[in-house]
Amino acid sequence: MPINAGTAEPGVAAARVASDGAASAPDPSAEAVPAFPVWRPVRGGNAFEITVARLVQAIKLGMVRVGERLPAERELAERLQVSRVTLREAIAALRDAGYLESRRGRTGGTFVRSALPASGSGGGRPDAGELAREMGDRLHDALDFRRVLESGAAALAANRSLSAIERQHLVAALAASRDRDPLTRRVSDSRLHLAVAAASGSPSLAAAVADVQLTLDRLLAAIPVITRNLDHSDAQHTRVVDAILAGDPNGARLVMEEHCDGTAELLRGLLG
Ligand SMILES: [Zn+2]
Repeated sequence: MPINAGTAEPGVAAARVASDGAASAPDPSAEAVPAFPVWRPVRGGNAFEITVARLVQAIKLGMVRVGERLPAERELAERLQVSRVTLREAIAALRDAGYLESRRGRTGGTFVRSALPASGSGGGRPDAGELAREMGDRLHDALDFRRVLESGAAALAANRSLSAIERQHLVAALAASRDRDPLTRRVSDSRLHLAVAAASGSPSLAAAVADVQLTLDRLLAAIPVITRNLDHSDAQHTRVVDAILAGDPNGARLVMEEHCDGTAELLRGLLG
């Protein structure tokens, strides 16, 4: 893990440009902060609310997982383009709500304490059919949008010559996506989809994929876990990543379409 800065390091006027590639040891699986679309600048008058929402999104989408640390305050404030006061207030709000905890000392920082109640299964698991009906037409729209977007992102990624780090990041996300734990599967899946979108090299596409993943998040988390579906998904994920790494845009597009169609059928089925 690149522990490039604990919490606040006064006087270190970090070069704005180089806040990506974190000094020496890039670990693609751990804190690939740069590719995360929700850390984009906050615009508009509700900086506090938007900052809270961005942090919640980052947790929900698995950009920062349970037990993992948020990027350093200075770096995060810079990425979100909010003041450190606003960022601290947002973090404090989520700390009070039990989602984040702050630890002191050299290995300190702000850590994700528990997954948000809406995602994953367990006691209060929402009924997928009910959620689908609640979304109504918005569900069809989101599924159509997702199909075009994610398959386009996969094709674009296959068209690019990816760096070694980008390739490693994809492979690591793919390996992690074969997660069978119903509590974390959803997050691992969405991390892979975001990794593909990030590999497209288009921040706008990556942000749009993150948005659509969030729109469908509660529903996807509520889908009953069926081993056969998971096997099928795992195989499609592997084929998408293989096609991207092999530089096969058509293959990547087709498999991603097929994958989105599979989920769409399941979800539309829930609408009855
Ligand atoms: Zn998937």
